[in-house]
Amino acid sequence: MAEHIHDVAVVGFGPVGQACALMLGRAGHDVVVLERWPEPYALPRAVHFDHEIGRIFAAAGVGAQVKKVTDPVPDHYEWRAADGRTLLRIDWSGLGPSGWPVANFFSQPELEAVLAEGAAALPSVRVNRGCAVTGLTEHADHVELRATDRTGADRAVRARYVIGADGANSTVREHLGTPLVDLGFYFDWLIVDLIPHEQGQWSPMNWQLCDPVRPTTIVSGGPGRRRWEFLRLAEETVEELNTLDTAWRLLAPWGRTPANSTIERHAVYTFQARWAERWHRGRLLLAGDAAHLMPPFAGQGMCSGIRDSINLAWKLDLVLRGVAPEELLATYTRERGGHVRHAIHMSVELGKVICVLDPAAAEERNRRMVEAGAVPERALPPAPPPVLADGVVHRGRPDRPDGLAGSLSPQFTLAHRGRSGLFDDLVGHGFAVLTAGVDPRAVLSAADLAFLDSLGAHYVPIVPASADESADDALGYADVGPGYLDYLAEHGRRAVIVRPDFYVYGSVADPAELPDLVAALRTDLLGESGIRSG
Ligand SMILES: Cc1cc2nc3c(=O)[nH]c(=O)nc-3n(C[C@H](O)[C@H](O)[C@H](O)COP(=O)(O)OP(=O)(O)OC[C@H]3O[C@@H](n4cnc5c(N)ncnc54)[C@H](O)[C@@H]3O)c2cc1C
Repeated sequence: MAEHIHDVAVVGFGPVGQACALMLGRAGHDVVVLERWPEPYALPRAVHFDHEIGRIFAAAGVGAQVKKVTDPVPDHYEWRAADGRTLLRIDWSGLGPSGWPVANFFSQPELEAVLAEGAAALPSVRVNRGCAVTGLTEHADHVELRATDRTGADRAVRARYVIGADGANSTVREHLGTPLVDLGFYFDWLIVDLIPHEQGQWSPMNWQLCDPVRPTTIVSGGPGRRRWEFLRLAEETVEELNTLDTAWRLLAPWGRTPANSTIERHAVYTFQARWAERWHRGRLLLAGDAAHLMPPFAGQGMCSGIRDSINLAWKLDLVLRGVAPEELLATYTRERGGHVRHAIHMSVELGKVICVLDPAAAEERNRRMVEAGAVPERALPPAPPPVLADGVVHRGRPDRPDGLAGSLSPQFTLAHRGRSGLFDDLVGHGFAVLTAGVDPRAVLSAADLAFLDSLGAHYVPIVPASADESADDALGYADVGPGYLDYLAEHGRRAVIVRPDFYVYGSVADPAELPDLVAALRTDLLGESGIRSG
């Protein structure tokens, strides 16, 4: 039994391990999951994911089930001073660029149940709960994991690659050996999740009360649930804060009492901001909280982990299929590390707004933010955009940088051969070559097409919406309303290659340059020789 070598061992079956198992399993890889606890963790933590994560869940085949356990946000995320002035107003209403609501609220156990069921239902995924990994030994062609199962017996499991999705105190990270960068941002918050007995509209649905007397977060906890979070004051101990009596005392001014609400749980968490410098060594990879932690003010901790999982899934898929060499995995830390630092810094900046207990400092903050019109771009310190800077990203020429490379691509609705729907539903998932006014197959050589076919790429010539649908080019995908043609025109581009994680590999202004772009992709994926190894 121990002789069998799985393709991938996923250590930890939280949302990130679940997403990794789901995506790799759907690609047909032999995945074994080892999770310490016999039963799923039943208490809520994350409550928010953004539009990009919704698109990833849909690509993983669980979009419809996820929608059933989420509430989209209808309004703004507001940050208010004690006197009611608005300090920050972030528009969370409507659909985001990925074709999913900008902001979605859920209860983590319900979301995890969807992801876990999806993964466990796949024939190539084996989930072992109650199985704690205690050690790893690296060999030339595999890693052996030692684990203790729920009977206390020792087990050995072998896999070609190991994903450590084993959370903040990761065993895999310890073994991988990486320095941690810690921003020294530590604040204790009491989290109270409750179920109001009456169901109604909460307006705004999500907000922060930046009152130095007691900074407080009031947000949705997913369908039928609300969450309050209270910052620990200097004179309080964690033990005093973390009691049911304290929770009810702090909820009382909000009109929440045992007569109208049930507390699901209360817990004190220490919010912190840190990341591992290295997420990959040899056959070991880290994802999710094992690689990074951030305060939850932007609701991006799990989201960042889900981005890790799709980045890893498509790269491991190419390596396991022998399409790309193992060196491709070296791009993982560079791409995701830079991106996650953006999320951590943004979360810390938001944290600095609310975690203020000094009345004079709070008044100075209020004045500055009100003056800035509560507009995030003006009220918060400037931050670089969240793009993938270095990795499988087209660099362009120094005199003509590729402005779209590394950015998140949008998802629009298309019509094709009498059907219409979102891009992913109509075209499918994977690499995509989108072009305006020309069929990519007409400008690429047989060798280019063979290479793109080996990646499983989709060819998507975009044509304008036609008044007469039957006149649509049978090969073309018609924009339904403002869509890809506007997006390309806005950036002065005529062709773009999108990666399976929806980030733009690169783009060109003239379709005649598409073969050069494909050649650059080949080098970035396969190495300088452009020839796959093994
Ligand atoms: C109060 C709070 C609010 C938050 N709000 C948000 C939010 O709104 N949006 C958001 O995106 N994120 C939010 N987060 C962060 C989010 O909850 C985490 O980022 C997410 O749960 C991390 O998922 P993970 O799978 O990486 O790790 P975890 O969920 O921690 O899962 C790790 C798993 O690994 C298992 N494990 C550990 N060691 C071993 C071992 N040796 N062998 C086998 N298994 C092992 C554990 O049992 C666990 O099941 C919040 C967090 C908190 C605390």
